[in-house]
Amino acid sequence: MERGNGGLMRILLTNDDGIGAPGLYVLEKIAGALSDDIWICAPSEEQSGAGHSLTLTRPVRLREHAPRRYSVTGTPTDAVTMALKKLMPAPPDLILSGVNRGANLGDDVTYSGTVSAAFEGALAGIRSIALSQVYAREGLGHGVSFDAAEEWGARVLRPLLDAPFAPRSLVNVNFPPLPGAEVKGIRVVRQGFHDYARGSVIEGIDPRGFPYYWFGLHGIEHTPGHATDLEAIADGFIAVTPLQLDFTHDASLASLSQRYAP
Ligand code: MN
Repeated sequence: MERGNGGLMRILLTNDDGIGAPGLYVLEKIAGALSDDIWICAPSEEQSGAGHSLTLTRPVRLREHAPRRYSVTGTPTDAVTMALKKLMPAPPDLILSGVNRGANLGDDVTYSGTVSAAFEGALAGIRSIALSQVYAREGLGHGVSFDAAEEWGARVLRPLLDAPFAPRSLVNVNFPPLPGAEVKGIRVVRQGFHDYARGSVIEGIDPRGFPYYWFGLHGIEHTPGHATDLEAIADGFIAVTPLQLDFTHDASLASLSQRYAP
């Protein structure tokens, strides 16, 4: 692949879990196996579920934590935009987003700040890859293990460094909730869909007596579609899924046009 820095691959790291997230340190280790020219620009606070949102209604603030390590008081898309337009002297050769704490499988990708940061990179014409570590229910909170991502990360990325990426496409990688030694391998699969039973809305009363609502994510059992990212993870494999930003449903173009034909 082309190098932006005299032969050394320049990599931008970002995420949606925030500049202090454990998964970002895991990603630094993974990227460190590929290059020494690493830049980080991530949201200052967790932005999981932010999707591809761009902050328009208020200013964002930039903080330099160390050389080449920045946070932005905005979304993952804001962070990538700041890195590309303000911080980096030249565009990176590669953008890595993650390693997200939790799955970005099936329709998750439309909610995901992790995947959206990679979409932003893809729109800018930069090779972009999202990485997520699925966790088992018993490993909630601080118990989430990034073992599989840590052990397999560089191995998954290397073949992607010079693979052809179509314009405005990216690659979405999910690691199964297993110790690295128990991971069965790598599957290239399509994006699946969860059953639409997700999204429990939990209701409570705040300390001042007002009701609040909190969207829950977990505990929905479903049967993953064949040869999908969801199935690969259920089978103990790493899921590698190419995604594209062109959402057009080609098969409907002709029939829909006929509805407007004079
Ligand atoms: Mn997240």
